[in-house]
Amino acid sequence: MSKPVVAVVGRPNVGKSTLFNALAGERISIVQDTPGVTRDRIYAEVSWLDMTFTLIDTGGIEPESKDIILSQMREQAQIAIDTADVIIFMTDVHQGLVDADSKVADMLRRCGKPVTLVVNKVDSFEKYMTDVYEFYNLGIGDPIPISAASRLGIGDMLDEVTKHFAENAKEEEGDERPKVAIVGKPNVGKSSLINHLLGEERVIVSEIAGTTRDAVDTEITWQDREYIFIDTAGLRKKSKIKEELERFSIIRAVTAVERADVVVVVIDAIEGVTEQDAKIAGIAHERGKGIIIAVNKWDAIEKDDKTIYKHTDRIRQILSFMPYAEILFISAKTGQRTRKLFDMIDVVLENNSMRIATGVLNEIMTEAVAMQQPPSDKGKRLKLFYITQVAVKPPTFVIFVNNKELMHFSYTRYLENRIRDAFGFQGTSLKFIIRERK
Ligand code: GDP
Ligand code: GDP
Repeated sequence: MSKPVVAVVGRPNVGKSTLFNALAGERISIVQDTPGVTRDRIYAEVSWLDMTFTLIDTGGIEPESKDIILSQMREQAQIAIDTADVIIFMTDVHQGLVDADSKVADMLRRCGKPVTLVVNKVDSFEKYMTDVYEFYNLGIGDPIPISAASRLGIGDMLDEVTKHFAENAKEEEGDERPKVAIVGKPNVGKSSLINHLLGEERVIVSEIAGTTRDAVDTEITWQDREYIFIDTAGLRKKSKIKEELERFSIIRAVTAVERADVVVVVIDAIEGVTEQDAKIAGIAHERGKGIIIAVNKWDAIEKDDKTIYKHTDRIRQILSFMPYAEILFISAKTGQRTRKLFDMIDVVLENNSMRIATGVLNEIMTEAVAMQQPPSDKGKRLKLFYITQVAVKPPTFVIFVNNKELMHFSYTRYLENRIRDAFGFQGTSLKFIIRERK
């Protein structure tokens, strides 16, 4: 099941970042351990009781003038409405209720999505509680007093937020159709690709960047099998600010990837693979989804017999954190290899949920250990007792060892490679959990 998405909306300085940090702890990043990919604070995974959700900060408002703040808040709220399952609307007891709050509250009330109204900086309930009641005037439910800085009231807030998850979860449950997210920078050809797969001009594609349309999920049948394509091109943000556009395309990617089984990361062959592509691909990697890199506009570049290898090398270099990803060179315009995409989606789906029997895994591990001695430190040598697969999507393995400290990343990588030699697992990441057994 996909993780719910929660978005935080609010005026500058109400304490959104502080709340974000309080909830996300150390785990704030776009891609961990991914060289060349800058750490960013756009989204984070949050756990509360037995639930996890993705928190996104639609943020980035510069407090310049009042008019700008309101229009930016509206945009922010719109992003939240388009992408989130639950919206946290944050206000500030010190600033009190301001006009922009009321206007945004109107927008949120109309959208019909669950909204949790939070009043921050209530550092002392005694002192501020009467001021909190004022926020009932927004007409979007009970205001929940919190102090993000001193982590007060956070539990009550999370209870309120997570209460809404169950309603949403039901909708997608039971839908066995594979979900494929098409992600990538603006103008790489996501809409064109969906169009081509659909085989009809149902979707309006335009030469002008910034065209909008409504449909987001598209049903496509291929050889009697139905797929749901999640298209992030649909909701497009018009902005001249590069950072804002990037932020928006990342938020879109996060929410689409969350719901997907397989992610097709579309790259522009003319431009080549970029850092922005790496960020987007990193989201799919972090979430353990099946991944296909589709290098689009292959028709538009001059080729010789080395072109494909040059492109592949460059992609492998920039996306070095996901060597397992499948790469396909396509043209949404001419349809070159777009059929192959479906075959690849099927393979990747299968690999992402493949289970290997414990007996076979242990045979491979024993053989691997015999071929390359495990590392040792200060006279203590790593012993590997047992390996078993505990989960799929992505395939997740637990390895029992004598001492966790001795299990180096490079040795885990070595075992991963032996497992991949045996079973392939193309297009999916593998997860390893190391446990000690004395
Ligand atoms: P953002 O612009 O909404 O992301 O707001 P920030 O998280 O950057 O916070 C703005 C200011 O409010 C900072 O100086 C924070 O230290 C302060 N702040 C945040 N939460 C609290 C709180 O619970 N109590 C108090 N007194 N100050 C807070
Ligand atoms: P999106 O923003 O990712 O949805 O990109 P679009 O599908 O709107 O395409 C952006 C531009 O690239 C349009 O002008 C398309 O005609 C063009 N385009 C898309 N796919 C291809 C392709 O395979 N080859 C070429 N030459 N142009 C393409």
